[in-house]
Amino acid sequence: MSQSKDLITIATFLNPWDAHILRGLLESEDIPAFLASEHVVWLNWQWSMAMGGVDLRVPYAAQDRAKEVLEQYMQGDYAAALEAATDAEFGAAEQADACPHCGSRDISSSNTNPGMLSALGIYLFLGVIVPQPKAIKCRACGHSLKELADDARRS
Ligand SMILES: [Zn+2]
Repeated sequence: MSQSKDLITIATFLNPWDAHILRGLLESEDIPAFLASEHVVWLNWQWSMAMGGVDLRVPYAAQDRAKEVLEQYMQGDYAAALEAATDAEFGAAEQADACPHCGSRDISSSNTNPGMLSALGIYLFLGVIVPQPKAIKCRACGHSLKELADDARRS
């Protein structure tokens, strides 16, 4: 147990996957991190509480930086950064949910166009699903446009 002199527990988790997420976060910040008592918890869930959960340990010298990272995680800094990065990447796709004419998000869409019937016919006879244009209308300015069905765009 000489290793325990060099490592210090900075957090304890009842379930191992929370511990793994935080360990991965610390390692992504170049802080070596280790889990203790993890395998006992995997073996017997009921023992988790009794064993004191899974310990997240870091080298003694890195504890201040590690606690700082954990604090930032708890404050939601990483979630906010992820959200910002996701918005930057998918921002263009999100714009499709707004009216291109006035920018309002109060838009309605419907599939109740004549094409639906022929699409149903094609599906019944050929077993092929044809993406249907969706009628999108802005409730704010009345501007209307047609777009491919959401399912077809996402798949
Ligand atoms: Zn509009």
